[in-house]
Amino acid sequence: MNCECVPFRVGIIVGTGIEDLAKQFQAAMHGLSDVAISTRYGEVKLLQAKCKRSSYDGEIEVFILPRHGLGCHLPPHLINYKANIAAMKRLQVDGIIATAAVGALHSELSIGKIVIPDQLIDWTKQRPLTFFDECAVAVHVDVTQPYCERLRKLLLASAEHAGVSAIDTGCYICADGPRYETAAEVKAMRILGGDIVGMTAATEAILAREAEVCYALVCVVTNYAAGVLGARPSHSEVVEVMRQANTKLMNIIATSIERYKCYDCPCKHSLDGYGVKAPV
Ligand SMILES: [Zn+2]
Repeated sequence: MNCECVPFRVGIIVGTGIEDLAKQFQAAMHGLSDVAISTRYGEVKLLQAKCKRSSYDGEIEVFILPRHGLGCHLPPHLINYKANIAAMKRLQVDGIIATAAVGALHSELSIGKIVIPDQLIDWTKQRPLTFFDECAVAVHVDVTQPYCERLRKLLLASAEHAGVSAIDTGCYICADGPRYETAAEVKAMRILGGDIVGMTAATEAILAREAEVCYALVCVVTNYAAGVLGARPSHSEVVEVMRQANTKLMNIIATSIERYKCYDCPCKHSLDGYGVKAPV
């Protein structure tokens, strides 16, 4: 079912390595401006842009949120995830496309490979993970499919259209960070069924589902996780591989924006039956 919001809005959360995505999209966008959204969890600064699309009439409004902050670098454990997702909800975005740099838990995954994960394991231990801390009813959202299937399919089709090879499934394990994992932790993650490891995108996916906002993730394998093929991860390696993967990532996101359609989706009904909405 097509929804009625025209022009509609899309959120992009960008992670390590493509914080300057807005500048790179500048040619296709106009009216680029800073926006500050106030939420009950704090203020969030984003970039707003209008994007003309060749395939469809009208414009799409894009809100770009650098996950680690505008002009700074917040470590993953200090990111205000609730404020970020609440801001996207307040902006009434139809969905969120996020990027992430990840470590490979298997030697079969090659460096620079694009992965669109379909599962996650939340390995974090010290983050707020719900909007429903104080609620009159118990809320237990369904995360059987933690990433939006509709947006995953869009990302995969966009990658194919852009001529970028992408792996269509994968289990993302989210660690607290900011340190990298030990070799023993990586071994345990692999045994648990993980394919890639990062520090942010499980928290966002869970909160987005509670906020009834579609969310999907496009990952770049930037390094082998600790101990895989004898690896010792380094931030400089991550940044350099992301720099090299930038064009591929940009092409996938630009094509996704071009082909994005606003649809109803099960993610938007995750609270049906509870009689409450996420407080934003
Ligand atoms: Zn969805």
